[in-house]
Amino acid sequence: MKFLRYSLLALLTIAPGLLVAQQSTLEVASAVNAYRADREKIIIQDFIDLLSLPNDSANLEDMDANVELITAMLQERGFTTQTLRAGRAPYIYAELLTPGATETILLYAHFDGQPVQPVNWTYPPFTPTLLDGPLPDGQPIDIASVSGNFDPESRLYARSAGDDKMPIVAIVHTLDALRANGMELSVNLKLLLDGEEERGSPTVGRIIDENPQLFDADLFLFCDGPMHQSRRAQLVFGVRGSGTVDITAYGATRPLHSGHYGNWSPNPIMHLSYLLTSMRAEDGRILVEGYYDNVAPLTEAERAAINAMPNIEAGLQDELSVHTPEGSGMRLEELVTLPAINARGIVAGGVGIRGRNIILPSATVSLNLRNVPNQRPARLRELIEAHIEKEGFYIVHEDPSSEELRNNAKVVKLNWRGEGSPGLRTSMDGEMAQRLIGIMREFTPDLILTPNMGGTLPLNSFDDRLDAPIIILPLANHDNNQHGRNENIRLQNFWDAMAVYGVVLTQFGR
Ligand SMILES: [Zn+2]
Repeated sequence: MKFLRYSLLALLTIAPGLLVAQQSTLEVASAVNAYRADREKIIIQDFIDLLSLPNDSANLEDMDANVELITAMLQERGFTTQTLRAGRAPYIYAELLTPGATETILLYAHFDGQPVQPVNWTYPPFTPTLLDGPLPDGQPIDIASVSGNFDPESRLYARSAGDDKMPIVAIVHTLDALRANGMELSVNLKLLLDGEEERGSPTVGRIIDENPQLFDADLFLFCDGPMHQSRRAQLVFGVRGSGTVDITAYGATRPLHSGHYGNWSPNPIMHLSYLLTSMRAEDGRILVEGYYDNVAPLTEAERAAINAMPNIEAGLQDELSVHTPEGSGMRLEELVTLPAINARGIVAGGVGIRGRNIILPSATVSLNLRNVPNQRPARLRELIEAHIEKEGFYIVHEDPSSEELRNNAKVVKLNWRGEGSPGLRTSMDGEMAQRLIGIMREFTPDLILTPNMGGTLPLNSFDDRLDAPIIILPLANHDNNQHGRNENIRLQNFWDAMAVYGVVLTQFGR
């Protein structure tokens, strides 16, 4: 009924526009921008309403309130919606069919947020506050008193402003803008709005398995994450996978005096140190035999894309006081297409006033693995265990018995924390990717193409189940403080997101 009302309204108001069957990318972008410029206050107020709802996915009542508001926003624009649950936080599925369209874009965003500690925030996380610039200097703006447009450098501060409620509000207002201008979508639009992304989307696999027909699409557009530091528009074609292993080495079964027993007692800290340096060279290259065997080499297009990216390293080195990065001169953007092993923590004895002159019974290091396409986590585990054995260690997976310690020169316990995830990289040469790149380039010629980002996103549940290529379209400002305190969105990023969505939705299916 609502959809009908909307369609009639659209027909009445935009009949002349229908004569112009196809608009150019720039016409669409400027129409969306003009529409937005007339309604900034309304759009910001809608965003504030959504950001005012707490959204820690552990609190199902809060998540239901988010579902209710988002569902109403979507239904008002003619979407059919469903709330999907598989035992934990809700997901929203929404669908807007376009008459005559033969292709479908499935767009992903999430409406849950990281838990907050309000005392750390300058303004309460669920009292969205518009400031005239970034903190610490930005000052609050009284929205009611603003007439006309907002300074696009203003920032709205609230949990999930940047990660990741913005795409939801941007999409619905983009659809309003297109309709008001008589611009039709060129594709069917499906939305999957995740209510538990910040917990790793534990039930998304079941959600898809139980409703496979809903997720039929030609392109999966993942709308999450910060844009490139240069603020240039960006498409990202993949992510690294991740894995974790804790390694504990053992000495004598009780602490021994380092004077009386030094040079005699095996020292677990030193065992770990030797082991780590055997696994990884000073420049970060992994020395485990076979580790790079299956690593997918960069294609020509991927290498060209990396070479064309703005080089941010000099600035990073300066900002972070790094004289020599790892990687023997290779660019950051290329290094993240390779696997990495990093020590993320080490627990052993004490230092400073907590230091004691003893040799410890055990020491533990926690390693984070970053995996890239074609590396299988199970295979990496085999390779690492084979390497550790080759270094003369006896491997256990539970605490070793005295018997095992007595009978083996060197013992380590390996605690693999979960199965780990593989990396993922969508080909830039594929038809859907090429089409999206082409459309985006018409609109923003200096588009940045990133073969894969260094971090990990929960994309494998999708990659394993969906045929559609997965491409990441990040639109939040890089300095949005996602996950931390004082999370924010820069208004210009919100406005650009609307124009990008408008362009993609009207042009992709042409
Ligand atoms: Zn996110």
